[in-house]
Amino acid sequence: MRLAVIGAGEMGHGIAELAALHGHEVAMRDVKQELLDRGMERIRWSLGKLVEKNQIRPEQRDEVLARIRVTTDLAQATRDAAIVIEAIFEDLDLKKRVFRELDRAAPKDAILASNTSALPITNMARATKRPHKVVGMHFFNPPMLMPLVEVIRADTTDDATLEAAVGLAKSLGKTVVVVKKDVPGFITTRVLGPYFEEAAWIHDTERVPIETIDAAMRFRAGFPMGPFELADQVGIDVLHHLIKNANRPVPRSVQTLIEEKKFGRKVDEGYYSYKGGRPTLRPEMGSGFDPIRILAPMINEAAELVALDVASPAEIDEAMRLGTAFPDGPLTMADKVGVDTVLSALRDHPRSKPAAILSEMVARGDLGAKSGKGFYQHRMEREMMAQGTLLIAKDPATHVATITINRADRLNTLTPEFFEDLDRALGELRADETVRCLMITGSGDRAFSAGADLTSFTEVSKAFKVWRSSRRSQEVFLRLANFPKPTVAAINGHCFGGGLELALACDFRIAARRVRLGQTEVNLGLVPGAGGSQRLVRILGQAKAKELVMLGSRLTADEAASLGLLTKAVENEAFAAEVRGFSERLAKQAPIAIRLAKVLLNRAIDTPIDASLEMEAMAFGLVTSSEDVFEGLQAFLEKREPKFKGE
Ligand code: NAD
Repeated sequence: MRLAVIGAGEMGHGIAELAALHGHEVAMRDVKQELLDRGMERIRWSLGKLVEKNQIRPEQRDEVLARIRVTTDLAQATRDAAIVIEAIFEDLDLKKRVFRELDRAAPKDAILASNTSALPITNMARATKRPHKVVGMHFFNPPMLMPLVEVIRADTTDDATLEAAVGLAKSLGKTVVVVKKDVPGFITTRVLGPYFEEAAWIHDTERVPIETIDAAMRFRAGFPMGPFELADQVGIDVLHHLIKNANRPVPRSVQTLIEEKKFGRKVDEGYYSYKGGRPTLRPEMGSGFDPIRILAPMINEAAELVALDVASPAEIDEAMRLGTAFPDGPLTMADKVGVDTVLSALRDHPRSKPAAILSEMVARGDLGAKSGKGFYQHRMEREMMAQGTLLIAKDPATHVATITINRADRLNTLTPEFFEDLDRALGELRADETVRCLMITGSGDRAFSAGADLTSFTEVSKAFKVWRSSRRSQEVFLRLANFPKPTVAAINGHCFGGGLELALACDFRIAARRVRLGQTEVNLGLVPGAGGSQRLVRILGQAKAKELVMLGSRLTADEAASLGLLTKAVENEAFAAEVRGFSERLAKQAPIAIRLAKVLLNRAIDTPIDASLEMEAMAFGLVTSSEDVFEGLQAFLEKREPKFKGE
């Protein structure tokens, strides 16, 4: 195919080289011969590298070079082009003017494409007499290496033009994501926007050091580069231009660097100084900053694109992974951390207004992986149900069931209905043989459960009624404590009073670092009423339990873990993966052995030792009659993982 590339700069020369390498005839145009010469020099250097690395032969290099012709004359360049790709400065007025010129010079049926990163393609299209033949082709820097091209459909683009642009990008070996609507910033520029800008605002307004933010985003969120190092790499001047172009306010630190001409890496000074090389960051430097603060506004943009039907979640994620090295993609990340968690990070956000689609999803219970459905369907989707105050999900693949208290707006406080719902759910999950481990958690990321719902409490004001409902909650928690499968309290947010009593009735308690826990009833002039005073003594011993209950202390997760109240406290971002992994490990154990072991361990505390030892011997006898014992021994001998059936 005959192509014309307009502009021989950073992008233009790369696109020309790439096209010629893939067999296209290319005419490259710039405004001055020396710019063309520089572009050709860079192409020659790059092809030379390919020869050095044995990726092409020297004669191939010569053929590629022979396919590129250069000219300063626009008419000459476009005379016989089937597709023209414009890669000039990012300036809408200039682009419109050049599109007008291209429209006059190029053959009537030629397609005109722009490589703009963010400017509206439709405006360029409307500057021509062939608006249906104008399209966006957004390559990434360097075009030779980056695997993605965003193809943007302007309001005016026809199907044939879109197809031809997609075809061309594919002929260059690229993965194509079609951006179905000409929205500001398309997919990648738009979603990436907050990565740097949000970081800059946080740094400027809260004085969080750049190293802290960069280390957190690199080592904890998994980006190849933190936002400030990336900004220095891209160029502070380029970012400044981009922010202004988008009519967004310029963060103060950006303005200062511009005034001081510290444009980043290319001048050895930007947010960092590069005189001694790349900034040295260590993982622990990022521990004081939660990456969700920057991820949430990015996810918000991606969610808005889904709502606008610009592309599917999978396409958006692919574009972000390939175009910007966003780990996993923003919507996969949203499903992983929980759509409710993203939404709560955006609550009262000074710069991002939460997309309506996020609140709608949370209201529907589409919270992501933990509920079986979010932006994607997850394995457990079919098994997902809402039951009053609870969401119940079963994952047949891992055998883990999850009960989520679904009252995030009320901090997952416990009502009389909750106890009835939980009782019913326990009955069902107990009978379901596909369930081998039960995880209990709260929706949102503020509270696991903040305790009893005091509003429902004042309604039952008569003492005997309160006694009855306290007894009922104890009954249900006892049922939970004796649940014949392992149980894990996934303490995702604050956990007080009745919330802690719920967690105490589980076999294991894992909490995110940010949460606080306490048996805090005395602070309200109450006493624990759902087993707290009894289970705490059994778990911690009397002295520690007294301290907790009588002072009504609020412990950090680390304090609770060191007391022995928690199985472990884990980093906030690692929390979801950690509890999932832990529950899945429990679900892989032999169900009969686990059930018997749990009975023995539960009874150990208040059964006379001769009776409990007798029980142990009987359990030991009983378990040997299960098929799983043979499987366990067999797997051990064959050095493989056992596959227990619970038979
Ligand atoms: P650049 O400044 O390196 O190159 C632009 C070139 O266009 C210059 O050589 C300039 O002389 C030339 N030019 C200006 N007016 C011209 C005209 N009328 N005719 C022909 N040539 C003209 O810029 P760049 O980084 O290559 O960016 C080009 C476009 O690609 C911009 O729209 C930019 O947003 C987009 N883009 C850039 C990157 C990137 O990382 N640099 C990535 C993706 C997209």
